[in-house]
Amino acid sequence: MRGIRANLIIMRLISTGRTTCLFACMLASGLLMPVIQGQSLTPAFGPSNPFFSPSTLPFQAPPFDKIKDSDYRPAIEAGIAEEMKEIEAIANNPATPDFANTFVALEKSGQLLGRVRRAFNVATEANTNPELQKIQQIETPKLSALDDAITLNPKLFARIQTIYTQRDSLGLEKESRRLVELTYDRFRHAGSNLAETDKTKLKQINDRLSVLQNAFRQKLLAAARANAFTTTDKSALAGLTEGQIAAAEIAAKARQQSGYLLPLQNTTQQPALHSLSVRATRQALFEKSWNRAERDDANDTRATIADIARLRAEKAKLLGFPNFAAWKIADQMAKTPDAVLKFLDALVPAATAKVIAEAKDNQAIIDAQKGAFTLAPYDWEFYAEQVRKAKYDLDEAAVRPYFELNRVLQDGVFYAATQLYGITFRERKDIPVYHPDVRVFEVRDADSKPLALFYCDYYKRDNKDGGAWTSSFVPASKLMGTLAVVYNVANLPKPAPGQPALISYDDVRTMFHEFGHALHSMCASVEYPTLAGSIPRDFVEVPSQFNEHWRDDPAVFAHFARHYQTGAPMPSDIVAKLRKAETFNQGYAFTELLSAAELDMEWHSLPAEAPLQSPDQFEQAALQKKKLALPAVPPRYRSSYFLHIWAQGYSAGYYAYLWSEMLDDDAYAWFTEHGGLTRANGDRFRNMVLSRGNTEDLEQLYESWRGGKPTIQALIQQRGLNVAR
Ligand SMILES: [Zn+2]
Repeated sequence: MRGIRANLIIMRLISTGRTTCLFACMLASGLLMPVIQGQSLTPAFGPSNPFFSPSTLPFQAPPFDKIKDSDYRPAIEAGIAEEMKEIEAIANNPATPDFANTFVALEKSGQLLGRVRRAFNVATEANTNPELQKIQQIETPKLSALDDAITLNPKLFARIQTIYTQRDSLGLEKESRRLVELTYDRFRHAGSNLAETDKTKLKQINDRLSVLQNAFRQKLLAAARANAFTTTDKSALAGLTEGQIAAAEIAAKARQQSGYLLPLQNTTQQPALHSLSVRATRQALFEKSWNRAERDDANDTRATIADIARLRAEKAKLLGFPNFAAWKIADQMAKTPDAVLKFLDALVPAATAKVIAEAKDNQAIIDAQKGAFTLAPYDWEFYAEQVRKAKYDLDEAAVRPYFELNRVLQDGVFYAATQLYGITFRERKDIPVYHPDVRVFEVRDADSKPLALFYCDYYKRDNKDGGAWTSSFVPASKLMGTLAVVYNVANLPKPAPGQPALISYDDVRTMFHEFGHALHSMCASVEYPTLAGSIPRDFVEVPSQFNEHWRDDPAVFAHFARHYQTGAPMPSDIVAKLRKAETFNQGYAFTELLSAAELDMEWHSLPAEAPLQSPDQFEQAALQKKKLALPAVPPRYRSSYFLHIWAQGYSAGYYAYLWSEMLDDDAYAWFTEHGGLTRANGDRFRNMVLSRGNTEDLEQLYESWRGGKPTIQALIQQRGLNVAR
């Protein structure tokens, strides 16, 4: 899963490629900067540049053996200029607007920029250096300006609108009609249909929001730093390992302080709370975390978030929506805030019942140890850890020899895909790569025809972003005659030369997860590139999370989980512990997520006219209304430090994590009901879901495959919320 990153700028760069695990749609940022031609010295661009013409390698794979860092900038700038010219030509075409001269022309535009951007993305995210970072800084605003120049081009929108209003009488194919509707909605969603005065207002709101979001980010960064826990008394840190204490000492020294320092993580709970045995220390650390952005005037974010919430409501009103959530969710699978709220609210009883049972377990340990106090949020992880050790303790060192990376890949990840979809894999050492650790596989379909090229770049590097993600070098499209060229990136530990890469159970999940995204791209069988790539955020994680389930499928697990030296299967007692540990403490983990998702929805359901309230009161009232005001189980993020929703594009979108989880669990339940891992089941899923991209309404697409609406039952079962511990 892709970690949440602070660098939104990079996300803008990705908007022409399919990117998963993080979201590229930053339309709200309102960065409308003019593209100034010749503003600085643009290096020459000509046939010697490897991006000049389409790659002649198999599958149009990027020619990484020829690409130099100095090739990117001239190619990006030439690509921007070329695309601007193409857009102008479409917008100013004297011929009557029709599907071919507007929509097909738009789909075909931007080829050069697409080629270079997609190679540049992997270079900057997975193998960066100061030169690339500098190019990124220079080009990012120009790329944002290009996006805005397209969306806010009135002549272009007029053509799109003309065809949209005639769509019933044009005899369009199903996919073409879908393309018209999605493109129209995207432009309208960004304000293309507003009158000029309202466009100006929208721009002012976007500019102001952009300033406030930056202010929030900066205040929060300073607040987190200022509220690190510090002590000069080593005994206060009892429970931490010597290694952790040494790290705390180094962290203090790095800030020219004596003693020990525990920096704050983004979330409410802090990692050290698992093991700190002095209750006063736990309480102090927790309070630093909880009050971080409400402690001193300079870094207090509350006024800023109130302003952001109000401005977003105004923006939604201007765009014709009752509130920001309604605007944000309109183009998602869920479509309306009501659908989201119904879903979230339905989960509250099971989550809270489970978390109350877990609280009792924790309280029982406190009582047995004659603690004489009531479980507080800062006690939770400490006592839960004791329950975990007693019930499910796993020795990592005993597990890893059964998860050798290459075996997991070939006999697990690839094996499951072969069993389900009939596709096969053959390593291609002749395809150039951007780093020696990258491996490339040619993927063939069940009928042996080429299907895709798959790159994997699993090992951690210092110049690689954290987390794991999937993206593509070439999107699959019948119109363009292209097959998918797709890659997975992760940060798994690299073994010493000659040693096997023995990974954790969670790393195995990451490999299945990212490969699920890759399958979604590789299996896409669609006419238009846009329909292969524009997957809403509340659906984009479904194929990946669904694919994770095959890790634990008995047939797949038995096939890959073998001792790297002896080939022996994993002993059944270790397997049983692995499985049981999966649902441990899930009441807590789920409830804190649910509270955060509900808070996000409450903030973004405010109408523009709502009276201003103090964020703390608002938050408490919201949690009470949702029956989630549990003293020992605070939300994963408090409003005042909820970075995802105030400055990271997840506003009225945090629910998507849980929504996707409902769908992937529900999808796997269908497989279980129909005989599990079979070609027939796999083909049906591939034909009806995986290959369809965004070619039809995703709710309908899913329901016609599933034979009904998804339910929360499978999710509740998977999380273990239905069973007492
Ligand atoms: Zn993902």
